[in-house]
Amino acid sequence: MPTLPFAERLYYEDACCDEPRGLEFAAVVTEIRELARVEGRPVFQVALDRTAFYPTGGGQPHDTGVLVATARSGAVLEAPVTDVVEDDAGEVWHATAKPIQSGTEVVGRVDAERRRDHMQQHSGQHLLSAIAAREFGAATVGFHLGRMDTTVDLAMPLLSAEQMKVLQQRANDVVMRALPVTQRWVGRDEAEALLAAGVLPKLPLRAGDLRVVSIAGVDQNACGGTHVRSTAEIGPVLLRRVERVRGNSRLSFVCGGRALAAATADWKLLTGLAGTLSTGVAELAERVLKMQAEVAEARRRAKTETR
Ligand SMILES: [Zn+2]
Repeated sequence: MPTLPFAERLYYEDACCDEPRGLEFAAVVTEIRELARVEGRPVFQVALDRTAFYPTGGGQPHDTGVLVATARSGAVLEAPVTDVVEDDAGEVWHATAKPIQSGTEVVGRVDAERRRDHMQQHSGQHLLSAIAAREFGAATVGFHLGRMDTTVDLAMPLLSAEQMKVLQQRANDVVMRALPVTQRWVGRDEAEALLAAGVLPKLPLRAGDLRVVSIAGVDQNACGGTHVRSTAEIGPVLLRRVERVRGNSRLSFVCGGRALAAATADWKLLTGLAGTLSTGVAELAERVLKMQAEVAEARRRAKTETR
């Protein structure tokens, strides 16, 4: 791991969600500054000598959690971390409403559920991008991990239903093989050579050593994000829809817990609709078509009678 001028990034080496390993850490506050006032109340930004909080970047949102400081008297101050950003110089700033002075020893705790969700979506994107490159020759030109929706932009004409099927099947095949996801640091020269050889799809602008994340036999990518340790941890990969945006295919997908939630919500919706129409889910499409035909027929008759 390279020597960084600011906070040591613990999530580079261990992004796992098995508490307390990886997500609970001891650190010292190195700097504090007032960021803004929200409804008259100050919001501070705190820098630490080491942090497991991921700052927003590379399409992945920041972690949340809490910084806990214990005074000599035993009094405990809990400062929720609501935002984490990296400045241009490379320092990581943790936003909190409670001031913690420089030199204070703290325990940081990252919200495991949110982190796990982000790791599943982000690692799933690595998988989909790698398969889209191999199967369709499509480069990934964008990624957005939203609260509800995660999208990847692929440089190719609109994905067909058959291509969606292939992509989803291949991605879930890799998940079920439980392939290891590993990382290593490479120098800029080696990274340039890997790019020229077509091993790495692209390089970030960041200077210095680069972190290469590998899914065994499937993908190598220079990436500073947080990833699962085995493709099995991604869970099910479910493609939702595709649309054309600026000449690319924008693919919406959900992985892991989000895929389960989406499938459960779909089923609830379908059974609710089927119940309303007094039919079963399997007969729903046929029932709706029949109703449409009946409405059309009723309209036609009404028109004839008014003539
Ligand atoms: Zn990544």
